[in-house]
Amino acid sequence: MPTFEELLYCSGVLRGMRPGVCVPEEEDWIRKRNGYVVIECPQRIPCNPCHTSCPTGAVLPFEDINDVPRVDYSKCTGCTRCVARCPGLACFVVDLAWKEGWALMKLPYEMLPKPQKGMEADCLDREGNAVYRSRIEQVLEPFKDRTYVVAVPVPVELKDSVRAVRVVNSDGR
Ligand code: SF4
Ligand code: SF4
Repeated sequence: MPTFEELLYCSGVLRGMRPGVCVPEEEDWIRKRNGYVVIECPQRIPCNPCHTSCPTGAVLPFEDINDVPRVDYSKCTGCTRCVARCPGLACFVVDLAWKEGWALMKLPYEMLPKPQKGMEADCLDREGNAVYRSRIEQVLEPFKDRTYVVAVPVPVELKDSVRAVRVVNSDGR
């Protein structure tokens, strides 16, 4: 009989640290302008665009295509290319130096219509629950190919739980 933790893990809900979960050291993170990547990809799957899209080599080479990602944080510029390229929506850039008390979350966004700065957006946790309503601060398009990365500010205590964004329609839905 699988444990509750195992059931959650097999459903893609992460609890605790595992190989493939890449998080910077807090001490460096709070000072780093433009943010650092956070990766949550603990499953061994044949996939490596996080590595191939990274212009600085911060996502280390995969010895086997099924390896889980590893990050050299000394090389991460927070450019968000890996966020745009990851097919599993498992890469995020989190900027803790944006404003004191806030985390600027740079999250993948694959829906239409094109998100715009100033739009209201629900910030969702890993289970899809809206945990904060924010406004889009920036819309990035790292490869200029209509794959967007949306930056939304959230209170810093939500930096480990917000993992997706849903634009709110003008009628509030
Ligand atoms: S944010 Fe940019 S530099 Fe950092 S790991 Fe991703 S692609 Fe590499
Ligand atoms: S591109 Fe995304 S899904 Fe693929 S290995 Fe990297 S983090 Fe995992």
